[in-house]
Amino acid sequence: MPELPEVEVVRAGLERHVVGRTIECVTVWHPRPVRQHAGGAAAFETDLAGREVGEARRRGKYLWLVLGPDALLVHLGMSGQFRVASPDDDLPRNTRVSFSLSDGRELRFVDQRMFGGLELRRDAATNPVPHIAPDPFDPSFRLPEVARRMRAKHTTVKRALLDQRLVSGIGNIYADEALWRSRLHFDTPTTSLGPRQATGLLRHATDVMREALAAGGTSFDSLYVNVNGESGYFERGLNAYGREGLPCSRCGAVLRRSSFMNRSSFWCPRCQRPRRGVV
Ligand SMILES: [Zn+2]
Repeated sequence: MPELPEVEVVRAGLERHVVGRTIECVTVWHPRPVRQHAGGAAAFETDLAGREVGEARRRGKYLWLVLGPDALLVHLGMSGQFRVASPDDDLPRNTRVSFSLSDGRELRFVDQRMFGGLELRRDAATNPVPHIAPDPFDPSFRLPEVARRMRAKHTTVKRALLDQRLVSGIGNIYADEALWRSRLHFDTPTTSLGPRQATGLLRHATDVMREALAAGGTSFDSLYVNVNGESGYFERGLNAYGREGLPCSRCGAVLRRSSFMNRSSFWCPRCQRPRRGVV
């Protein structure tokens, strides 16, 4: 599932290949990805035609294209991708929406599993997702304040990292990496963190996402491809996620996998000891 670094790679690709062009016409091949759009697929095609793309922006895992006062909000879901191609190129399998651009090329939204979506939000160009907290790369992100709020919540550290109303953009992969770097077990109560531990954990989450961004995002299967059709390759830089049964690169203990919120947590039993009474 794409997290902040992967979404940012897609945003940067859209900025390079789509911003400044006009959407001349739109074809919706499958109605499901535009299910949130008022009026459905036919209205989506009409409402988007003739609009110029002013900017490609992002908050957390959401990205949007600025179309005058409106925002074309995009959520990549589990497997959403954009491809820029010549109209003569074969349509990739699972192409759901095509946009013909004024430079003669075509932007294609490809989504195998269709948890993703596209939706025009009127008069929302500045921020179509006000319920999502700023991510650590947002100029309005205040680390000490977020750390204080995290410590005041009656929850556990990994749940807090994944809470998009507290801090956005962190998903399962980068949460596990930040916890490993902070030597914290995923079920540690947030109220037990000291101020330094909380700010340190958020800094680690920011660092690991920054490193992933520099490497072009993380990819674990062929579902996530950036706007040019290239997979990310940060998985080589991971220390915890996906490494069950492998030695911890810090202490050599065998890493474990536990169930967590219908997904998995990967952790080192020596570096990230559970608190007494937890797990
Ligand atoms: Zn270890």
